Amino acid sequence: MTLRSGRQFLSIPGPTNVPDEVLQAMHRPAIDIYGGVHGGELLGITMSSLEDLKKIFKTDGHTYIYIANGHGAWEAALSNVLSAGDTILVLESGRFAVGWGEMGRSMGLNIESIPNGWTTAVDPAKVEEHLRGDVEGKIKAVLMVQVDTASGCVNDIQAVRSAMDAAGHDALLMVDTIASLACMPFEMDAWGIDVAVGGSQKGLMMPPGLSYIAANDKAKAAHANAGLRTSYWDWATREEEEHYRKYCGTPPVHMLFGMRQAFDMIFEEGLDAVIERHRILAGAVHAAVDVWRTSGAFDYNISESTERAPSVTVIRTAEHIDPDKIRTICIEHMGVTLGLGIGDLGGKAFRVGHMGHVNAPMILGTLGALEAGLDALGYLDDNSRGGIAAATAYIGAALKSV
Ligand SMILES: *Cc1c(COP(=O)(O)O)cnc(C)c1O
Repeated sequence: MTLRSGRQFLSIPGPTNVPDEVLQAMHRPAIDIYGGVHGGELLGITMSSLEDLKKIFKTDGHTYIYIANGHGAWEAALSNVLSAGDTILVLESGRFAVGWGEMGRSMGLNIESIPNGWTTAVDPAKVEEHLRGDVEGKIKAVLMVQVDTASGCVNDIQAVRSAMDAAGHDALLMVDTIASLACMPFEMDAWGIDVAVGGSQKGLMMPPGLSYIAANDKAKAAHANAGLRTSYWDWATREEEEHYRKYCGTPPVHMLFGMRQAFDMIFEEGLDAVIERHRILAGAVHAAVDVWRTSGAFDYNISESTERAPSVTVIRTAEHIDPDKIRTICIEHMGVTLGLGIGDLGGKAFRVGHMGHVNAPMILGTLGALEAGLDALGYLDDNSRGGIAAATAYIGAALKSV
């Protein structure tokens, strides 16, 4: 017997659910990319999407679309503003900023980092101290993530910006928003961010395969002298008039159809409303975990509640519990796919994604199946069994005020 048949729930922190509307928008014959009616349609999608990306990143700067996953945009970002031998400062808060820095090392950059473990957000005071120590101004860029998808923490970008200003340091601030864009506030210009990186397959509700960069004028000035530029990633190529230059080759036709639809859906709901939906659904997840953790068998990886991401929750398991068993019962018996812990948290945690195309019943369904699984495995007692009730109460309270 299994309770799996029915709509499958993908509750991992990326790739995330692709709305039917986006899939349908992509389900079209290929078209002529070169001209006439159809070429004009694609060019229109590119140009309107580049403008919409400015609204999503909240910038008047420059935006670029890459046919690449997030790692591609990481490389694009570094190569456009840095030169071999430059030093960059990596602000650790889990796995992803570290990975970005490792990529930089392979490109010939020197890496300094502020180590931080996996259970807390970046400490801006340490950033200020480190930058004050850089009296020669060797550090050309500071790399950080807004949300670390492996640790589940959210970093305070504004506080890091203030720390850089307090240190009087003029390094570029480069922020990975792949697991946070359109899931929480992000204000590129108001927060003084020089380069921002995003990806299609998380909050932006598309299949993996597109990634985005926004850059301000300071980043463009660095670009003028960047020795790591290569023709494929180069912003200069992508700024040329001809359409195929914007992708350095054939445009990703069907991905563009999907992207246009996804952006339309975001703006139809309203970016602020999208962010508020994420805030409330994250609150529901946290309400459930608050109850489950009273069993002593589970706890947040991020103990400080203000440092927990609104897009993914990472739940640590006690030593006697194998998180793979939880994942297995959820997927094989209930059709709900959860994420496992990665990196330092391998075998020690599982992850619930709550970003992108998710609504109340999807989150409550995931939490309900998860609670049933935890219960079936004997991990909950009478006190810790009420997570789903707490989550519904949380959503009920949020609805009272709408
Ligand atoms: C998923 C993710 C990435 C990597 O994106 P890919 O598309 O897998 O290359 C980078 N940074 C963060 C914060 C992510 O969540």
